[in-house]
Amino acid sequence: FRERIVMEHTEMEEALRQMARQIVADLDDPEGLVLVGIHTGGVYLAHRLGQILDTEHGRKVPIGTLDINLYRDDWSRLHTQPVVRATRLPGSLDDKDVVLVDDVLFTGRTIRAALDALMDYGRPRRVRVATLVDRGHRELPICAHFVGLELETLPDEQVNVYLKEKDGADRVVLECR
Ligand code: 5GP
Ligand code: MG
Repeated sequence: FRERIVMEHTEMEEALRQMARQIVADLDDPEGLVLVGIHTGGVYLAHRLGQILDTEHGRKVPIGTLDINLYRDDWSRLHTQPVVRATRLPGSLDDKDVVLVDDVLFTGRTIRAALDALMDYGRPRRVRVATLVDRGHRELPICAHFVGLELETLPDEQVNVYLKEKDGADRVVLECR
């Protein structure tokens, strides 16, 4: 495979800033926002968005986390099913504007599992999805409202998201064929 860098630190920062601006613009009730990061990548990104919302928009936003893992039974993708392992939410989600944050949106199955888990915590007013990269190939009627980068990919390609918090530097790389 070949590698193609599709985002460096500056672009990632700008993408997150723009997503934060769009999240604020989308709100009717500034008090009701909750960010929920999905396992590793999404949790770091939720905290980055939270930081930007605080410093650039004067909003302290509660952040929750969902740990979702692919349950592989594994010889066929037909048998892969994302399963929610652990949930940590800042209180009830009744009437909240929830933004689910992930690094890459692909088939939509992870978001579907996340939605299922969220509903145990009340009745949110609205749920949106924020993703750093939307790589297409949805298998369910799921979309992201806030997208850092729409990237055309082949189904068997991979998008590697490196984040300074865990990898020392910010970078998004497409492993292409
Ligand atoms: P989906 O459930 O939409 O098929 O896949 C989304 C989840 O799997 C996200 O949590 C994301 O982190 C991970 N994922 C799917 N495809 C990729 C990819 O190409 N690169 C990375 N880094 N994660 C991916
Ligand atoms: Mg993930």
